[in-house]
Amino acid sequence: MRIARFEARTSVEGPGERSALWLQGCSIKCPDCCNPEMHDQCAGEEISINALAKKIISAHADGLTILGGEPLDQPLELILLLQQLAEAGYHGIILFSGYEWHSITADLTKRRATSLCDLVVAGPFDKKQTPSSRRWIGSENQTTHFITDFYAGLQKDWPQNMREIEIFIKDNVIMVNGTPLSSEDELSLIFAPNRENRT
Ligand code: SF4
Repeated sequence: MRIARFEARTSVEGPGERSALWLQGCSIKCPDCCNPEMHDQCAGEEISINALAKKIISAHADGLTILGGEPLDQPLELILLLQQLAEAGYHGIILFSGYEWHSITADLTKRRATSLCDLVVAGPFDKKQTPSSRRWIGSENQTTHFITDFYAGLQKDWPQNMREIEIFIKDNVIMVNGTPLSSEDELSLIFAPNRENRT
């Protein structure tokens, strides 16, 4: 499986202190994408599904957010990973995809991958529709699909947008997690200088 990044803990990619996995490669290429370095399907790092599942499970986080890149451009690998997590009793999986929900459900493999998640956020990033009023969501056009009732609380009451980002230094590189910002956003900065074992 080709990945761009794995973070064992983040507090800006979904509810709680969760892990985040950015998959490498995206065929959608939304204008103004904030992760263009994750478009190239040959870049990033190859990792075995077993090793990745072990990393995710051993992080003991509140859940896992899968984003990218486009996670559903590696649907078979994603299914195998999600099946391993399900067998380990892992819950709290949120998947962000740039594909529209109708195109996900029309494709057997993509639909199978999303069926193994708890919540799917679908649709391309559209800078003209930012900021979204919903926390963690990139642009207002993106739709939410509750596959299980694990995030039933969010279904009833999705938190309002805070536009937070998390900045930390890893291997002498400044890293930023979170959703895109505009000049009108209320900004909450979370500095996490002492977080170690992020991979
Ligand atoms: S789907 Fe995601 S990674 Fe791909 S171009 Fe759109 S925002 Fe960027």
